[in-house]
Amino acid sequence: MALLDIQQRIAAAEVKANRAAGAVKLIAVSKVQPDARVADVLQQGHRLFGENRVQEAAGKWPDFRSDFTDVQVHLIGPLQTNKVNQALELFEAIHTLDREKLAKKLADAVQKRGNCPDLFIQVNTGEEPQKAGVLPAEVDNFVKTCRETYDLPIAGLMVIPPVDEEPSLHFALLAKMAARNGLSDLSMGMSSDFERAIALGATHVRVGSAIFGERVAGVNL
Ligand SMILES: *Cc1c(COP(=O)(O)O)cnc(C)c1O
Repeated sequence: MALLDIQQRIAAAEVKANRAAGAVKLIAVSKVQPDARVADVLQQGHRLFGENRVQEAAGKWPDFRSDFTDVQVHLIGPLQTNKVNQALELFEAIHTLDREKLAKKLADAVQKRGNCPDLFIQVNTGEEPQKAGVLPAEVDNFVKTCRETYDLPIAGLMVIPPVDEEPSLHFALLAKMAARNGLSDLSMGMSSDFERAIALGATHVRVGSAIFGERVAGVNL
C-alpha cells in the first residue's frame, strides 16, 4: 500500500535524522488525481492533503469534507489576489505567499474573518525566472514586512528546488533562512526527495505521485 509505505519511510527518516516521531507532516498532494484515488486515501484514514489550484480544490473538497471529518487541505500552488477570499474558505494553510500585494490582500481578508490560515513564504532558492517565490536576498525583508506592516503570523518557508539540481543544497539554504528569521516550519520535499528534506529539517513534506500514482492529466507545477 503506497500510503503506508510512505508513512513508514517518513518514520524511518525521522529516526535517522534524530527527529521526534511525528515531527514531519505528510501532505498528500491530490491535484489532478481521480476522486476515487483520493477517496481511497481518505478511507485509509489520511486527513492532510495538498492542492495547487483554487478552482480544482473548490470542485472536490467541499464534498469530501462532508463525507470525512477533520480533513485539512493546504494550498501549495500560486494564489491570485482575486481568489484570496475563496482560498480562505477552502484551505487551512497557504504555502505560496510570495509578494507584498498578496500579503496585503491576505491581511485585509484575515482581519475581516478573524482567523488566519497557517502561512508559508515560498522562496525561489534557485532564482529561476519562471518560478514563483521570493528571492533569497529578499526573504528577511519580506518576512519582516509580513509581520510588521501586515501583522501576518508567518509559520515557515516553502521551496520547490530546480529540477536539475541537487535538492539538498536548496533544502539546507531554506532551513538556514528559516532559522535566522525565527521560523519553525519548513515545507520541502516531494516524492523523489522527501527523505533528504527530512534529514535537513522538513516539517511538511508534499508527496503526490508516490502515494496516488502518476498524475493522470499531466503535471501542473
Ligand atoms: C505536485 C506538487 C508536489 C507533489 O509532487 P510529486 O512529485 O508528485 O510528489 C509537491 N509540491 C508542489 C508545489 C506540487 O505542485
